[in-house]
Amino acid sequence: MHITMDLSEIILYLDLIKRKGNQPLIDELDMMVYHLGNHDQVKTFYNKIKEHEFRPPFAFYLKTLIHFIEDYEECISLKNKILATQRNNRRPFIKLFTHQILLCKSEEEALSILQEARNYGLNLDEKFWVSKFDSLEDIKKKQEKWKYEMENSDAYDNFSNIYEAFVTMKSSYFKDLSEEHLKSIIVEQQSQERNVVTRQINTFMRKTYIKEYAKKIAQGICQLCDKEAPFLDRQGNPFLEVHHINYLSKGGEDEIDNVVALCPNCHRRIHMLEDEEDFKKILRRTSVI
Ligand SMILES: [Zn+2]
Ligand SMILES: [Zn+2]
Repeated sequence: MHITMDLSEIILYLDLIKRKGNQPLIDELDMMVYHLGNHDQVKTFYNKIKEHEFRPPFAFYLKTLIHFIEDYEECISLKNKILATQRNNRRPFIKLFTHQILLCKSEEEALSILQEARNYGLNLDEKFWVSKFDSLEDIKKKQEKWKYEMENSDAYDNFSNIYEAFVTMKSSYFKDLSEEHLKSIIVEQQSQERNVVTRQINTFMRKTYIKEYAKKIAQGICQLCDKEAPFLDRQGNPFLEVHHINYLSKGGEDEIDNVVALCPNCHRRIHMLEDEEDFKKILRRTSVI
């Protein structure tokens, strides 16, 4: 089974297993990283793990983060951060230096990176690496290889079970939350004073809660055509899709008064036709709340 899990689901998963008193396994975390899209998401993911006091090794973070870094400055700032904090474990440094060489733009830069590495007691094959500068292709190849290895690992096969278990957990968690309670969580998420790190986590968390709220309000009935959801999902919940009335891509907000639950047909219709009457109708749905 092909699984895609986005960061908002991953964050919810970490919360749900924590409620059960469990910790994620390193294999699971690896697989979650596989589903992420960029290094900002990796950072948010890692901060979430820390928030839960799960403590995967720093090398894990580094190994995963590096797959997503395609920016030279970003690579340098990560390297400096790591050089400043990890004095005893030099092994991961090699990856950083070589990654930096792949991203740098001239032979001179490559040579100075090699010199810097030597100052840290790391000897890289100069002939080999000095010819590798500016090879984003090599980074892409490494990323492809990493993905390939992930997809062909036992962890990948096992992950579909973990994901199934998560979907069941998620379904019963939201089934048990009353409309009021769900709303109060969303309001609470909104009002908390937060720093940049927790705000990022919160943004992803809200996505899930707001979607679930829209579905709870709809009670299995499409909010455009007023018909029942066309089928039940594997957990027995009516299948409706959540639509943002003012598109997120056009500055609409992830807020409870900007979402409705629609049957897949109406969802297509709304996007295809962008009909004024449809728009007014779904807008009325939310102002009733
Ligand atoms: Zn409909
Ligand atoms: Zn939509």
